[in-house]
Amino acid sequence: MRTTKYLPLLAICMIMTGCNSKKEAATLTTGIDLANLDTTAQPGTDFYQYACGGWIKSHPLTAEYSRFGSFDLLAENTRQQLNDLITGLSAKTDNAPGSVAQKIGDLYNIAMDSVKLNHDGAEPIKAELAAIEALKDKADIYSYLAEAQKLGVRPYFQLYIAADDKNSSVNLVQTYQGGLGMGQRDYYLEQDENTVNIRTKYQEHVGKMFQLAGYDEATAQRAVKAVMDIETRLAKAASSQVELRDPQANYNKMDLAKLKATYPTFDWDTYFSISGLNGVREVNIGQPKAMQEVANVINTVPFDEQKLYLQWNLINAAAPYLGDDIVAQNFDFYGRTMSGQQEQRPRWKRSVGIVSAALGEALGQMYVEKYFPAEAKARMVTLVQDLQGALGERIKALPWMSEPTKEKALEKLAAFHVKIGYPDKWKDYSTLQIMNDSYWANVERASQWEYNDMIGKFGKPVDRDEWQMTPQTVNAYYNPTTNEICFPAAILQPPFFDMNADDACNYGAIGVVIGHEMTHGFDDQGRQYDKDGNMKDWWTKEDAEKFNERAQVMVNFFDSIEVAPGVYGNGQLTLGENIADHGGLKVAYQALQKAMQTRPLQTVDGFTPDQRFYLAFARVWAGNIRPEEIVRLTKLDPHSLAKWRVDGALPQIDTWYTAFDVTDKDPMFIPQEKRVNVW
Ligand SMILES: [Zn+2]
Repeated sequence: MRTTKYLPLLAICMIMTGCNSKKEAATLTTGIDLANLDTTAQPGTDFYQYACGGWIKSHPLTAEYSRFGSFDLLAENTRQQLNDLITGLSAKTDNAPGSVAQKIGDLYNIAMDSVKLNHDGAEPIKAELAAIEALKDKADIYSYLAEAQKLGVRPYFQLYIAADDKNSSVNLVQTYQGGLGMGQRDYYLEQDENTVNIRTKYQEHVGKMFQLAGYDEATAQRAVKAVMDIETRLAKAASSQVELRDPQANYNKMDLAKLKATYPTFDWDTYFSISGLNGVREVNIGQPKAMQEVANVINTVPFDEQKLYLQWNLINAAAPYLGDDIVAQNFDFYGRTMSGQQEQRPRWKRSVGIVSAALGEALGQMYVEKYFPAEAKARMVTLVQDLQGALGERIKALPWMSEPTKEKALEKLAAFHVKIGYPDKWKDYSTLQIMNDSYWANVERASQWEYNDMIGKFGKPVDRDEWQMTPQTVNAYYNPTTNEICFPAAILQPPFFDMNADDACNYGAIGVVIGHEMTHGFDDQGRQYDKDGNMKDWWTKEDAEKFNERAQVMVNFFDSIEVAPGVYGNGQLTLGENIADHGGLKVAYQALQKAMQTRPLQTVDGFTPDQRFYLAFARVWAGNIRPEEIVRLTKLDPHSLAKWRVDGALPQIDTWYTAFDVTDKDPMFIPQEKRVNVW
């Protein structure tokens, strides 16, 4: 749950240009397309516009996107490749029953079968809705919650199994707050006009969905009230996005006796037994206040109202997999109202996404076999080593950190577990059945498979070789409990990684991504974990204070950015990502300088190697975004907006000033003593 990703939203899959690692340096390009620039803008006024203005202009937002940038473009290309792989299987009639080919092909065909989907309408969830109606009393809720989560329906809270933060080789049963249809507590609590409007629309949405599911108007109105009452109570008790980033605050391990004493009305025995977790001895309750309110709600809210809330959770979870009227209403709220998206993605794109989620590593294996060249992995291994070396040099030279802390930091850096491209061991989907009953029933079985995969970890040591992302994901992550950095195959292509481009380009793009993930090991969260992934303080008191002082400069700076009229950035929420971007830039720049000692680079097209480094970095963040999406992401995303990952990050970097001759006459200028200086 605490894995830190490069991007908030998982995108799917990839394209690789023809690569040849044996290319002579002389044949490498700069990787910089001048058409992406807007040279009428000044680098020191708005570097984002200068470096990306051409791209932004030539890639206007289409109706199906609320945000579209380099990541999304790459994800689109990858999705096309996945589609080719999938449709190659779905067109066949002789796939062996039970084979991966049959599962991938059939699931896609079922997802694409609009005639059957519209004929069935809400029918595939009717039996489950009736089963909720038939629950006898509140005591039945616990067994229902345990059963529903297996099928991907999670009212009230979520259960998961992951490494114990303070004993990282052992898997621990954990809970996480949840149960909010709008996803995040601010939507229930804030009183500004925009939020109030979304809240009103949400209530209309709940009512319409109940009617589309076959209920009469009066029941739908009762449901709206029950859902809002319960969710508002849960929201009031929920932790904020900032509180969720504090690992200590979210670590509340207790034994079973204490768990039962703390939440005496909650029937833990029934819940764990039906969850398949017999013999649970310890649990981490991630957000105790939220769990307390869950127990109170179950215990005190009238049973009939709770049944409507449970039915809403089922309808909401199943909505994307039912008839088109339901899918359209679901999009109207979550896409149009919340994100400003104007049009739904075409069916084939949604279907590829579902196949890629349900059979992720099976499809991933086909994907890397066809599209991921061995040379790319080899060059990435070298790049990661270069970056690791550069970060080590920087740590040794830090003026503010004492020797004992440096020693521990260097040990942690040396212990990084590096994953590139794809896992060595693939997941086995042989127990997953794809059948021609309904789309939703297949999605439920895929959820059940995933649940079993997770529950299988109970009582077993943590598998450090498991991947938290599929190879076809355009993203990267750092996981503190395994001290691992991971770069899936799909991000290892242009504009991030270009086998045909020179070092200035690759160090500025994928190099900064690598440095970013490494720096997460030392950001405000990551620094609280040691080399073995245990949450354990390895800092001297003075060094920790100095770190916090330096981090506060970053918080204040991002707090002061007005991202939309009257809307400001959240420096505390985005602190870890901003530190990671900052460290990534400094480490990758230093690694480039070292590489240029043996592989010197020249000025090309009027741009020095240092300038190209910063242009390649900014290019990764080129994109367009709708106003609704700016507001939504600012509320919930621990990453700064793309524009500010460039225009907020670079004014903190001394060598950027030198590269572009930015002076105190330029609007982006920050006096040196006021710049962030952490890693
Ligand atoms: Zn990150």
